[in-house]
Amino acid sequence: MFIVKHLVRNRFNKINIFPVRFLNDFLNVEIAGESLKFPHVWLRDNCQCEHCFHSSAKSRILDWSKFDLNIKPKQVLYNEKSVEILWTDGHKSIYQLNWLKFRSFARENRRKYNEAIYRPAQITWNNETFNQILKRFSYNEILDSDKALHDWLYNLSVYGVTLIQGTPNSENAIDDIIAKVAFPKTTHYGAKFVVQSVPNTSNVAYLSGHLPLHLDLPYYEYCPGTTLLHCLVQTESYGGQNLLSDSFFVAEYMKQHHPEHYKILTEVEVEWSDIGVEHGNEFFKLYRAPVFCIDKHGELFRVNFSIPQRGSYFPEPLEKVVPWYQAHGLFLKLSNEFSASFKTNVGDILVFNNTRMLHGRNAYEDNSNNVRRLIGAYVDWDEIYSRLRCLTVKLKNLDGV
Ligand SMILES: [Zn+2]
Repeated sequence: MFIVKHLVRNRFNKINIFPVRFLNDFLNVEIAGESLKFPHVWLRDNCQCEHCFHSSAKSRILDWSKFDLNIKPKQVLYNEKSVEILWTDGHKSIYQLNWLKFRSFARENRRKYNEAIYRPAQITWNNETFNQILKRFSYNEILDSDKALHDWLYNLSVYGVTLIQGTPNSENAIDDIIAKVAFPKTTHYGAKFVVQSVPNTSNVAYLSGHLPLHLDLPYYEYCPGTTLLHCLVQTESYGGQNLLSDSFFVAEYMKQHHPEHYKILTEVEVEWSDIGVEHGNEFFKLYRAPVFCIDKHGELFRVNFSIPQRGSYFPEPLEKVVPWYQAHGLFLKLSNEFSASFKTNVGDILVFNNTRMLHGRNAYEDNSNNVRRLIGAYVDWDEIYSRLRCLTVKLKNLDGV
C-alpha cells in the first residue's frame, strides 16, 4: 500500500487533504474522517458519466462486453467533494464523496443504508405490547398528506400491523387508499373480496364460526404481501373479534426456548394447497415451503401457516412427519398464547403483513338486521416498499442518494 501524490489541476486543486491509497484491488478513500474501501471493479462498473450511466433512466449503460475485470486506476485526483479517477483504459470517472459514502461497504454505513432506503428493521411484539405498537392513522390524512402516507407505510413495515380510521362507509373507499400506494394484488378472489358469512362457501373465512389463526394464501409462491380489511358492518353479537399474532415474535421465542422445534419448522417443507371454484373459475393451487422461511443470514422473511390450506400430501420422508407435527402443534399453541384480540369498528381498515401476522376471528352470529361485512384486498410489499422509498427521498434530506 502506498500513498499517491497527485498532480495539481485547476478543478482538483487540493492535494492530499484526503489521502487516497491504492490497495491491490481497492481504492481507499477518506471521507469525513472515515477510511472507506471501494473495489476498483465496482468503481469502474458504477462510473456515473453520461457514457456509462443514463441519468434520467437511472440505469447503467456501459458496454459490459468490453469491460476489463482487472481495470486499475492510472491516476487519482480529489478535492473536498469528489474523486476523479483516470483508468488504465483511458476512461475518466468522477464520484461525489457523499455518493460514495452512501454506498460504502463499511458495516455501520450499510446499516444506515438498509434503514433509510432498503427496508426498515422489523420490531416484533406480543399480546403484552400490542396496544403500544398499534398505531392509528386517519383515512383522510393518508389521502391528503405525504407525511401521513409515509408514516403509515413505515409503521406497517416495522410492526406488521396498523389501523386506518374514519373510512367512508363505501365498498370502494379502500380503492383510494390502495391507489395512494400503487395497485391491488389480484388473486383468484379478484382485486377485492367480501368477507361475509356465506353458507356452502369455497373459503372457510366466509363462515361465521371461529376462524383459527392463519396467514392468507400460503399456497401462492407470490403470496400477497399485506391484507387490508375494511369493516363496513360489525357484528352486534358477542364475538367477531380479530385475533392477531406476530409469528416473527413466536418464531424468535421458539428459536430461544425450543430450538429443535424451530429448526424443524425451518427445514421441513409442507404442501400448501387450495382447490375450488371462484367467480366461475376452477383453481388448483399448490406451493411447497416450510412454515418458517429464512434467508442466508438466518433471518425470517416469510411464514406460512394455515390449517385449512395445508394439503394432505406430505412432500418429505416418513421419519420427518411426526416431529414436524409436534413442532407445528407447539407453534400454534404459542401463537395463540401470544395473540392479541380486538374488535374493529365501522370505518376501520385493519392492515397487516400477510407473510408475518397470523390472524383469525372469534365466532359471531348474524341476524337479519345485522350482517357482519368486510371488504378485503391485498397489496404487495414490492409496491409498499417502493412507495415508502419514494416518500423517504422526497421528505427527508438524504445525503448521497
Ligand atoms: Zn464513464
